[in-house]
Amino acid sequence: MNIHEYQAKQVLKGFGAPVAEGVAITDAGEAEKAARMLPGPLYVVKSQIHAGGRGKGKFKELGPDAKGGVRLAKSIEDVVANAKEMLGHTLVTKQTGESGKQVNRLYIEDGADIARELYLSILVDRAVGKVAFVASTEGGMDIETVAAETPEKIVNLPIDPTAGVTEADASKLSDALKLDGEARADGMTLFPTLYKAFMDKDMSLLEINPLIVMTNGRLRVLDAKVSFDSNALFRHDDIKALRDETEEDAKEIEASKYDLAYIALDGDIGCMVNGAGLAMATMDIIKLYGKEPANFLDVGGGASKEKVTSAFKIITADPNVKGILVNIFGGIMRCDVIAEGVVAAVKEVGLKVPLVVRLEGTNVDQGKQILDQSGLDITSADDLDDAAQKIVKAVG
Ligand code: ADP
Ligand code: MG
Repeated sequence: MNIHEYQAKQVLKGFGAPVAEGVAITDAGEAEKAARMLPGPLYVVKSQIHAGGRGKGKFKELGPDAKGGVRLAKSIEDVVANAKEMLGHTLVTKQTGESGKQVNRLYIEDGADIARELYLSILVDRAVGKVAFVASTEGGMDIETVAAETPEKIVNLPIDPTAGVTEADASKLSDALKLDGEARADGMTLFPTLYKAFMDKDMSLLEINPLIVMTNGRLRVLDAKVSFDSNALFRHDDIKALRDETEEDAKEIEASKYDLAYIALDGDIGCMVNGAGLAMATMDIIKLYGKEPANFLDVGGGASKEKVTSAFKIITADPNVKGILVNIFGGIMRCDVIAEGVVAAVKEVGLKVPLVVRLEGTNVDQGKQILDQSGLDITSADDLDDAAQKIVKAVG
């Protein structure tokens, strides 16, 4: 689950990290009051969408010369004018895709005098099986570009989970960011603080780009992108409350209600599979035969008929889906349950696209019988290869 920048900063502030004062607004009429609560004379008006690259983004409706999604304002009037121009418009950034995202909320923040922009993040480094810091002096810009062009400027520091962030670790990070004086002292407390926030709240990513050294020599978290491990949300009601469903894919929200692992993708073959590994293999084989999957969907090991029905509905509701491939290996999951779910769903929502079903395992004969006797136009397949070829051919 992702949250907005202003929410991420509130969470980090709760742990003691240095963030600027700021006020979130959803109506341009609130802009003046918000700005008056800040010290001034420099303000920043920041679009709150679940995507990065806002500063360099472009508003669709405002023409090529309009300023981006993060704007400096030198007076309260300037804050108000920018807020009016930005709210309700669609911001397109490197991360939003062409359709962009509507800006429904702004964060009016105290402007900082920046001496240096640094990059700092904490993530789960699967290669080493640890939580790791990534630090670079090249902040404020695309870290992917830095990684591609000057990888030596990025330092990766895995943390020993039993020791946490040691003095030695904090020193290494301070060196990597070339911190000295007060900024170094700030860093020595900030690094363990951020690590604690990451661990306590079950984050999967905490990215600060930029972390800045101000002209007064102090550190400040200027941007914050935080993602949480959805599987741990049950133990963080405070974090769950920060969810902004308007920023999420409607199909993914629906899927989460039924506890389905569903990710929307760009292709046109909808997939319903049990088990993440089999789902990955199914997506691979669709690609092998020249098509792209419309989604990743794992209905799980012991799915009920209702769960299968809702999964099927989510797939068919996607207008991009030109064909559906159901690929089930019945272990704990029984093939007859899957078949009943598919039949119930088709009866309820209809079937406008080709459907290929491959069943194998527990109660496979009963499952096939249910499909055969349903009178529905379903193509059955013998194995994964056969299934992929059939659905790719049917979609054309
Ligand atoms: P994004 O990464 O989505 O473009 P950022 O929050 O990183 O958004 O803002 C982009 C740039 O705007 C920063 O790199 C920084 O130079 C400037 N900026 C952002 N917030 C402030 C602030 N409070 N004071 C001064 N400059 C800021
Ligand atoms: Mg940023």
